[in-house]
This record gives sequence, structure tokens and C-alpha cells, in this order.
Amino acid sequence: MTRTLAIANQKGGVAKTTTTASVGAALADLDVSVLVVDLDPQGCLTFSLGHDPDAITESVHDVLLGAQDIADVLLDTDDNVTLLPATIDLAGAEALLLMRPGREYALKRALAEVAQDFDVILIDCPPSLGVLTLNGLTAADEVVVPLQCETLAHRGVGQLLRTVTEVQQITNPELAILGAVATLFDARTTHSRDVLSDISDRYGLPVVNPPIPRTVRFAEASASGASVMRGRKNKGATAYRELAENLWGHWNGKPLQTFELSL
Ligand code: ADP
Ligand code: MG
Repeated sequence: MTRTLAIANQKGGVAKTTTTASVGAALADLDVSVLVVDLDPQGCLTFSLGHDPDAITESVHDVLLGAQDIADVLLDTDDNVTLLPATIDLAGAEALLLMRPGREYALKRALAEVAQDFDVILIDCPPSLGVLTLNGLTAADEVVVPLQCETLAHRGVGQLLRTVTEVQQITNPELAILGAVATLFDARTTHSRDVLSDISDRYGLPVVNPPIPRTVRFAEASASGASVMRGRKNKGATAYRELAENLWGHWNGKPLQTFELSL
């Protein structure tokens, strides 16, 4: 059975793309077959997995519009995950999809054609709550919300959760919210913890274990397009491996471990 997880937050810079790439690579290291989907016209996931969005001719854009078979568009990566890439073309997909019936189901329909080849599908949503994110949430079984543990980083979470509720009511009744993923976490300050406990209290959102610490290596990796997790021993990479193991355990019947804030 394929598990499909959307990584969504309409705020940019909260580490959605980093989380998608790193969890994907860590799962691949556990011999899990992984498809990652780039739903952001900026193509940052595509770039961080070693493909130049400007040099790609066929992408998720063509798949969503029914112009290409998904199987013909998938790319291999050095991180051993399969990639459904994005290019800037996707910026126009929003407007083109709006004119089509069943527009929220375009990704779900395409993924169904290849799902049997993968254990896990991770969907990197764009920083908006438009039709692309609705496609991601409609195609997913579960959603996690990366949250940067800094001042007011959680603004907009309520809006995202309302969108999830609407998706549950209309296009995907099975969608479950797994919880928040705490990113750019600084364990040395009480501030990160305060922000997290505030989010948990206010929105009843569990925090999936472990929090991901801020690590300068991650900023370097996303800028270079180098393999995301390969050979990495820094604390960010270690945390993402733990997160991947936690998710994989959850998908195989173990209880999901959540972060204990009161410690
Ligand atoms: P989003 O997809 O939500 O816009 P990104 O994954 O692109 O966010 O991350 C935004 C920026 O933060 C990138 O420059 C990335 O390299 C950096 N970043 C992400 N995670 C970490 C981390 N754990 N430590 C340091 N920098 C990080
Ligand atoms: Mg991104």
C-alpha cells in the first residue's frame, strides 16, 4: 500500500522543500521506494535533487494538464528517490486548471498511474493555498505542516487548517493531519519551545518527533543542488533520518512519536 504525504504551509521559507528532499533521501536509505513531487513553480525541490528546472522540457505541469503521461516525465536522482519535476511553466498551470472540471483531482489521477511502483509519495506544496496546494492535499492520505520555530512563524496556520478542513469536506474526506514538523529549531532557547507549545495549545496540532535543528549545512546544500543527505553526519541530517524512521514506523503500524513539550 502506497502512503502519500503532503508537506504543506502557505508560508515560504519554513523548510517544506528541505523536509521533502531530506525525508525522501532518508527513506530511500532505508530501502523504501520513494517518489517526490515538486508542486512549486520555483522548482526548488527539482534543483536541490540535482536537476536544473530551466533545462527540463516536460514536467508536472504537462502531467496536470493531461499533455504527458506521468511515467514519461519522472526523473532519477542521485539521492535514489524518483522525482516528478517542476519548472516555471507550473506558474501558468494554476490559471489553466481553473477552467477545468475536477481540477483538484489532476494530481491524484496522475499519481494513481504510478503509485504501485512506490512505497511512499511525498508532495512538496508551493507557498500558497491555490489550486496546486489543493491538488496536493486532494492526492494525499496525510499532511504535515513544517513550522519555523521563530516569532509569529505560526501566523497562517489557522488558515491552512481551515483549507484542510474544506478539502476533507469536499475533495478528500480521508485526509488526516499528522501534525507539525518543527524546523529551524533552536533547543538552546526557550523561545522555540514557547512557539511550539503555543501552536500545540492553540490548534491542537501534535508536533511530530524530532524537531529539526538549524544547521548551516542545509543552507549550503539547497544553494548548490548537491545531493541532500549523502554522506551527511550533521545534526540536521541526523534529525531527518529520525523523522523518516518515525514516519516509516507509523506507516507500518507503530504509534507516531510526538515531541514532548513539557520536558
Ligand atoms: P520552503 O520550501 O518552505 O520555502 P526551504 O526548504 O526552501 O523552505 O527552506 C528555506 C531556506 O531555509 C533554504 O535556504 C534552506 O536551505 C534553509 N533551511 C532549511 N532547513 C534548514 C535547517 N535545518 N538549517 C538551516 N537552514 C535551513
Ligand atoms: Mg519550497
